[in-house]
Amino acid sequence: MQAQLRKLPSVDKLLKVDEITAFTKIHSHQVVVDAIRSELDSARQQIIAGQPALSAADLIRAVTVRIVANTRPTLQPVINATGVIIHTNLGRALLSDRAQKAMIRAASAYSNLEYNLEVGARGSRYIHAADLLCRLSGAEAAVVVNNNAGAVVLALTALAKGSEVLLSRSQLVEIGGGFRIPDIMAQSGATLVEVGTTNRTYTRDFEQAFDPDQTGMILSVHHSNYQITGFTAQPTLAELAELAHRYNIPFMEDLGSGTLVDTAPFDLAHEPTMQESVAAGVDLITASGDKLLGGPQAGLIFGKKHLVDKLKKHPLIRALRVDKTTLAALQATLLAYLENKAIDEIPVWRMISARPNALARRARKWLASLRSVPQLADLPLQVVDSVSAVGGGSLPGQTLPTKALVISVDSVDALAEKLRYLDDTPVVARIEDNRLLLDPRTVLPEQDKTLVAALKKVLAETG
Ligand SMILES: *Cc1c(COP(=O)(O)O)cnc(C)c1O
Repeated sequence: MQAQLRKLPSVDKLLKVDEITAFTKIHSHQVVVDAIRSELDSARQQIIAGQPALSAADLIRAVTVRIVANTRPTLQPVINATGVIIHTNLGRALLSDRAQKAMIRAASAYSNLEYNLEVGARGSRYIHAADLLCRLSGAEAAVVVNNNAGAVVLALTALAKGSEVLLSRSQLVEIGGGFRIPDIMAQSGATLVEVGTTNRTYTRDFEQAFDPDQTGMILSVHHSNYQITGFTAQPTLAELAELAHRYNIPFMEDLGSGTLVDTAPFDLAHEPTMQESVAAGVDLITASGDKLLGGPQAGLIFGKKHLVDKLKKHPLIRALRVDKTTLAALQATLLAYLENKAIDEIPVWRMISARPNALARRARKWLASLRSVPQLADLPLQVVDSVSAVGGGSLPGQTLPTKALVISVDSVDALAEKLRYLDDTPVVARIEDNRLLLDPRTVLPEQDKTLVAALKKVLAETG
């Protein structure tokens, strides 16, 4: 063992090996030395553990692999072939070209982010997307923060801290990623008062729970990722708004995804729109920027001016401050709605409105291209009817008909893993009934070539 340990080369010696020296021209000396040290370390551990020592060539290769791995950004593009359009794990909504360009513009030059050009003095970053949001939703005032969870915390803290908040028992939601309404409520210093039952809640339940000395707000939270069906009842937004106004307390709604476009014409259930909530008299509404709106991650807050003004003055808003590139992308996204171009421009809506015929054509093209490889000619490939999902805490249980390419192999998990391990652009597919399924709906048409090349490579290796 001692002899083997002594045989390990020194850091300096490895630095002089051509393959490794080449890296010192691209990366800093420190990066290369760190990689050499870590690999020497693991080589030493291996010897001490009684395993055979690495050959010199293997050690050099391990160092170069380590340098490449250490200098690659961990955040990288992937191809989403799952058919889930708003996939939170894969980055939710993709941005329109217009929004991407706006982000680059905001990132690459100074801007009037917080500068009033008319008076030549300090302005507010909160005006930039707010006017558009008001025009589109019909609200009096709006403000944008980092994300919807932040928006809810801010609103509850600023408006209901130290008081009771009435919420239907059917809306004690966990959205995922640790966002649970009862916890958020506790965090905000408000006291949750559960009203009604899991399946049925009436306006009179809210009336009975109202305490003039304690109650500070009525809250409604959208059923983002679950459904309550069967014997159910829920007061309408308008009824709760009327009640809150009678008691002189605000009625707030966490709309979750929210949308400015009616989903029904796309053969989906009706997702509540932002305009409907404003029209029903809800005083303050919060929603995400990167769900059905199809914009950047953001928390949209809109409603009555006196409430929005309170939020803008609250110290917490500074901690939830939205970035200039986000504001630029949000503004560009909202402009597409204003110009009635959202369905054509915004990827989320393009994917939702993609026609099954067009999707089938692409899936068949993928199949034909794979079949053209002699080695893959006998592979069990099929284009089948399947379903895509909107995802992102909207339209629970709703699906869109699609055509997917299905690959049947013995080791479907191993195939899926190989696709995820691809260096250039990993592919995330869906496994269903022990088959690998690739849904064209969420694959960008410009990614078709890359996807097919990836499949050819991985399938040829799998044999
Ligand atoms: C998604 C969602 C949230 C969280 O929104 P983020 O923008 O991810 O912070 C909060 N509430 C509801 C009802 C949601 O659907």
